[in-house]
Amino acid sequence: MSLSPDSPDSAASRVRFVLVGTQHPGNIGAAARALKTMGFARLVLVAPEQFPSDEAFRRAAGADDVLAAAPVVVTLAEAVADCRLVLGCTARSRRVQLEELAPRAAGERAIGIAAASDEVALVFGRERTGLSNEELQLCHAAVHIPANPEYSSLNLAAAVQVLAYEARLAVLAGGGGGATPVHADDVPATHAQLEGFFAQLGETLDDIDFHKGRTPDSAMRKLRRLFLRGDLTQQEVRLLRGILADTQRIARLLREAGGR
Ligand code: SAH
Repeated sequence: MSLSPDSPDSAASRVRFVLVGTQHPGNIGAAARALKTMGFARLVLVAPEQFPSDEAFRRAAGADDVLAAAPVVVTLAEAVADCRLVLGCTARSRRVQLEELAPRAAGERAIGIAAASDEVALVFGRERTGLSNEELQLCHAAVHIPANPEYSSLNLAAAVQVLAYEARLAVLAGGGGGATPVHADDVPATHAQLEGFFAQLGETLDDIDFHKGRTPDSAMRKLRRLFLRGDLTQQEVRLLRGILADTQRIARLLREAGGR
């Protein structure tokens, strides 16, 4: 039997809204209100410029419980470390080499993953400058609200409202039921495990001189995209890291033999 969409253990309880470097505290309050109206309760603040703040609580208009419970962390990586899916919302389309989703598909994917008992993050950038390229690289896909191309930047809390509404629709459509049990070997890799793999992959490519003087950024972006699309399990990440470890070991032996 599926749970009520608003029960504390529904898919909605596994979706967090992450605001990165928010400049205006009023927007934090308005975002809290926006997500609470849609049945969500989790806000995470990454290095907000001004928080806690009276203005934030005024604009929350009754969603003070969401604000009061919002953890404040220093980096986006920290905010999403345990997530299986991280979606970065961007006012500018096609800015990074990431899969791009429309809000409806983003809501469906987010709730589908959350319904399978995994943690999901929807990430929003700064009012002035949005998310940095490095921050977008931490996301599995980008979400763009197809606004007027001549004037595409929504107010931060309005963007939160659109995504929260789409996720709400997915919950109401039945994507937000109880957990689907997974086999132990199929446990999806967390964000932190994938980042550990990407770091080791970068080191290994250096060790085998894969880039030959070119900058590694473009190859790494493509590789990230490939592996993120692969929906890796924890077991698969362990296997890949084992291969990298052996590659690094052999490269070291060859270097040592060459240095003799
Ligand atoms: N000047 C910034 C816009 C920031 S608006 C820029 O050009 O990037 C603040 C945040 O609201 C954005 O980082 C994004 O997360 C969200 N947002 C605003 N408009 C959006 C849109 N059309 N689609 C998706 N997210 C949007």
